[in-house]
Amino acid sequence: MPSIKDIMQTMEYGPAPESNAEVKAWLSARSAGIGHFIDGRFTSAAGDLIDVVNPATEDVIGRVAKGTADDVDAAVAAARAAFHEWSALPGHERAKYLYAIARHIQKRERFFSVLETMDNGKTIRETRDIDIPLVARHFYHHAGWAELVADAFPQHRPVGVCGQIIPWNFPLLMLAWKVAPALAAGNTVVLKPADLTPMTAHAFAELLVEIGLPAGVVNIVQGDGETGAAIAGHSDVDKVAFTGSTDVGRLIRRQIAGSGKKLSLELGGKSPFIVLEDADLDAAVEGVVDAIWFNQGEVCCAGSRLLVQEGVAPRFFDKLKARMATLRVGDPLDKTMDMGAVVSMKQLSRIKTLLKAGEEEGATLNLAPVALPEKGAFCTPGFFTDSHPANSVSQVEIFGPVAATLTFRTLDEAVALANDTRYGLAASLWSENVNRAIELAARVKAGVVWINATNMFDAAAPFGGYRESGYGREGGRAGMLEYLTTGWDKQGKVRAASAAPIDVAPATGKADRTAIDVTAKLYIGGKQARPDGGQSYTVYGKAGAAIGEAGLANRKDVRNAVEAANKATAWGGVTAHNRAQVLYFLAENLDQRRDEFVAALAATGTVAKPEEEFEAAIRRCFWYAAQADKFDGAVTATKSQHVTMTVNEPFGTIGVVAPDEAPLLALLSLILPAITMGNRVVAVASQAHPLIAARLYQVFETSDIPAGVVNLLTGERDVLAKTLAEHDDVAALWYCGSEDGSRMVEVASAGNLKPVWSDLGRLRDWLDPRFGQGQEYLRRASQVKTIWLPYGE
Ligand code: NDP
Repeated sequence: MPSIKDIMQTMEYGPAPESNAEVKAWLSARSAGIGHFIDGRFTSAAGDLIDVVNPATEDVIGRVAKGTADDVDAAVAAARAAFHEWSALPGHERAKYLYAIARHIQKRERFFSVLETMDNGKTIRETRDIDIPLVARHFYHHAGWAELVADAFPQHRPVGVCGQIIPWNFPLLMLAWKVAPALAAGNTVVLKPADLTPMTAHAFAELLVEIGLPAGVVNIVQGDGETGAAIAGHSDVDKVAFTGSTDVGRLIRRQIAGSGKKLSLELGGKSPFIVLEDADLDAAVEGVVDAIWFNQGEVCCAGSRLLVQEGVAPRFFDKLKARMATLRVGDPLDKTMDMGAVVSMKQLSRIKTLLKAGEEEGATLNLAPVALPEKGAFCTPGFFTDSHPANSVSQVEIFGPVAATLTFRTLDEAVALANDTRYGLAASLWSENVNRAIELAARVKAGVVWINATNMFDAAAPFGGYRESGYGREGGRAGMLEYLTTGWDKQGKVRAASAAPIDVAPATGKADRTAIDVTAKLYIGGKQARPDGGQSYTVYGKAGAAIGEAGLANRKDVRNAVEAANKATAWGGVTAHNRAQVLYFLAENLDQRRDEFVAALAATGTVAKPEEEFEAAIRRCFWYAAQADKFDGAVTATKSQHVTMTVNEPFGTIGVVAPDEAPLLALLSLILPAITMGNRVVAVASQAHPLIAARLYQVFETSDIPAGVVNLLTGERDVLAKTLAEHDDVAALWYCGSEDGSRMVEVASAGNLKPVWSDLGRLRDWLDPRFGQGQEYLRRASQVKTIWLPYGE
């Protein structure tokens, strides 16, 4: 045994194992198999059981049931039965339960930490210091929301039964992120843990029994992807919340299209970690440790692309190699280990395949000089140099402890590289110059940005992605809204199928030329444009008389309009005050043509009160002008020495598809909130009454709306909507049309995972400000960016 003097000379770590005796006893008492937790009771483990393996030892530590469709049915039925009473409880009563969960997690902190480590392979240092304390924090925070929900979210109600599917990388933490807000808002839950890591969810269910949570409020169905699909697709599930791979996120999007289920997706990432030449390099090196070697790199927001300014890159990489050499990888229950095992041998082989591909593409793999244990799913940490932006290792989520690196010269180059990914989950920025850091924070497309920090999480800080990293937020006020609804947008009667024909041949019969005859063109990039296909279609008015022609836009016109919209990026950067001025000016110009619009609305033959619709349109311009500089983000106290800003950012280009009713008001009601928040719009006007669009673009032309900010198309609604839904450069889509069309656009949107707001073919009373305008529109027109800043001592 080495003497203290020897130890002081070598400074070698001795073994520091955490005891797992209690957890082993707990596991052994459940060795017959773990079943589901349905309606407050544990089912016995029947049928085919799934082995649960400790990836650090390769020992089977238990077996879990694989939930069948019948199990899912039973769990959903229990959640539905519990919903009425649970949602009717005063917030204060729900708060008491959430508080009890938080307290009991704290009391069992060590037990959960050890169990999580044995189930997942991550180190006890992380489960003990990060995962489990954050779980408790999450339940405390949401005990607060339960208390406040009625005051903080008036007119909102819980969504109903929530199906929640979570991954294996932070098993109990992901459970907390899902369950806590759902319960706080008054929902009930059916949750499926990943089959690789089911244990802490089961222990959590036991804790729920301990605290006396009413039966059926939380149900846990164990199982694999098939079980997950059965939950997501269940007809009595009102909301699906998923965290996992982008591929499965896409499957779920398609699976539940047209069902009206609320959906939040927290998916993959390839997040940039940007080191500017004026960064504190030593601090940034420590940042990398937390960015890519934390949790074995199995982190959706891992800093997996290190972008380093050229002048400091060699020095930075040298420092990184030196730091990497001190990393300790091994028994995750040893308190001195920096890294444990990855989640499974399968995941290890997946990581190795990706690393091999990187080397074959010419990148150099720098690995830490560590001796790995002979047994277990251990992976050597490292980073690539000589990697290029197009290399697979720079693009594909490795989900292991290896980062790609790239260098850049200018800030513009850094931004271009950072955004050169289909994802947009997080970014970590390192600079001692606050101006440069904040400029970068604004320009990087990511839902979470850490300045001189990385991988920081807090229950009050919304977390979630841009682009193919998904949509919806977890945590804070934005996270609560994912579990609440006003329901107004799906309450109307189902619209009759559109009878508006697309007649491209000359109209037969005598046209009603007493009405104003207009040939509507398209409006693209600030110019009136003839339709690419050279076709127009006949527009019918009162008593079915032909009253004019409108351009029949095709896919090429949609692409041209999107291209024009994507060039008009400056709009997102102008001040909210400027945008408000433009909207006021629009109202002014519209008002000058009041008689003409009222006559055109009357000529459609469907607008009962044209004056009223016109007046509402003017008011709507004023309302959004008023909101432009008032729909604000927030500053939240999260962790010590930090402050967290949530900023409402525009998506970019939003596609909007207007219904046939209220042809002026509905179209404006969709365009205005989108441009108020700084988006550009490609709008499809009413198919049946498109002539209003022609008058409207003439007003846009005179209202200081920059070219490309609003583009207007006319033609066959669902043909154009499908092209918009499929277009990768359209960032979000609002669709008003038929039930079939709603399903179609939701399926088609899965490509780039754009958020879709479809009305399921429901009529909306556009004249009523409760439905035709509101904060819901502004929320749908923006995505929350959460920026963490160093603040205070
Ligand atoms: P998955 O996306 O397959 O798993 C996430 C969860 O979804 C698990 O509970 C899984 O069940 C479940 N699931 C799988 N298929 C379906 C389905 N069709 N419908 C509903 N639920 C389903 O991730 P993997 O475990 O396969 O990991 C693959 C890769 O995904 C990783 O290497 C990583 O790149 C990425 N990933 C990203 C995560 C993130 O947080 N963003 C988390 C995990 C993985 P089960 O596991 O039991 O089969």
